[in-house]
Amino acid sequence: MSGKEMDFIKEAFDQNWVVPLGPNVNGFEKDLEDFVNHRDGETPLHKKVVALSAGTAAVHLALIACGVKAGDEVMVQSFTFCASSHPVTYLGAVPVFVDSEPDTWNIDPVLLDEAIADRIAKTGRTPKAIIPVALYGMPYKIDEIMKVAEKYGIPVIEDAAEGFGSKFAGRVLGTFGRYGVLSFNGNKMITTSGGGALICPDAEEAREILWYATQARESYPYYQHEAIGYNYRMSNICAGIGRGQMTILDGHLAHHRHVQELYCRLLADVPGFTMHREPSAVFDSNFWLCTATLDPDLKITGQDRVYDKVVEGAVGGAAGVTHAAKTAVTDCQPNDNVEALRIALDKAGIEARPLWKPMHRQPVYASNPAYVNGVSESLFKVGICLPAGPWVTDDDILYICDTIKASIIR
Ligand SMILES: *Cc1c(COP(=O)(O)O)cnc(C)c1O
Repeated sequence: MSGKEMDFIKEAFDQNWVVPLGPNVNGFEKDLEDFVNHRDGETPLHKKVVALSAGTAAVHLALIACGVKAGDEVMVQSFTFCASSHPVTYLGAVPVFVDSEPDTWNIDPVLLDEAIADRIAKTGRTPKAIIPVALYGMPYKIDEIMKVAEKYGIPVIEDAAEGFGSKFAGRVLGTFGRYGVLSFNGNKMITTSGGGALICPDAEEAREILWYATQARESYPYYQHEAIGYNYRMSNICAGIGRGQMTILDGHLAHHRHVQELYCRLLADVPGFTMHREPSAVFDSNFWLCTATLDPDLKITGQDRVYDKVVEGAVGGAAGVTHAAKTAVTDCQPNDNVEALRIALDKAGIEARPLWKPMHRQPVYASNPAYVNGVSESLFKVGICLPAGPWVTDDDILYICDTIKASIIR
């Protein structure tokens, strides 16, 4: 927090704007538009942004705007957090999962092309949208994805929830597709405590999103409803936090990059431990989280008995309630050495997490169509996320890297 947040919130109370609209919401949207429309060395874009209550809500409304209805299919990157695909199911539509390529860990454009052709052959219908995801902030191969999308005439909804501030060829993620999803949840690049936004192609489409986000009302002196709407608008208080956060965004971006570089430097000489990096200069990641992979042969202290006990206190469990795990193991889980490293770091007071478990391996999606090449599942088994937030100091990173090195058995 910069202190600016409190000023904007106080102003909202002083002016009695404690509602889901108001000057902070408008101001935050303007700040977001200025940021996403900027292009290095080129004329700015003209995207419009609608602030919403969550990134999940942004995915949901983008799908509605793409005309997704019950029974339709939507192509979704399998390697992601569930908020990319769950809103497809809210609409009674079917997420069709597509695996990743190894350079960015994001949706494989070649496999996507094959998958769409196969869906059309099998169902006689064209999927209604494509959802690539900037995993941990890493840009997807958007130029190739857009070519596939154009070939079939399918709109792209970029899930840049983790990739706010990431760029591809100097242009902000979320501005390439028809829609771009942002999240301002507590753990994302910037926070409004909880919140999200949808980047829209123009003012008319933004108005339609706003209409759906405010219960879809017709203009009569009474409430007249001709479509189903949602209560998805961002509150003026949350937007106040967002306006404050926008003043420190550049600092956050620089910090995350610095943290990534420090990890790379300090862990460069550790055999079997590989930091995930940008494949080339056109990919400009925000490094929301820094990620690494462990060679299966790397031996970590305690790895022999790592899955003996049922874990209590699931990863991410702090935000709400989790069901107790029924078994100590599942049929798709991180390798023993990865879990052993997570536990070793946890004992040292460091929170590390596995990568997202691919959606096509989630029990809830067991019967969904999936186009798989093995990349995301093998990454899930060998990968780990390291702390990267604005509060992580150089000393912390030294300590984290020392702890990693100390946990390795040579
Ligand atoms: C966080 C996240 C979302 C959704 O954001 P919320 O604001 O938490 O609803 C969507 N997609 C991905 C990939 C995310 O990580």
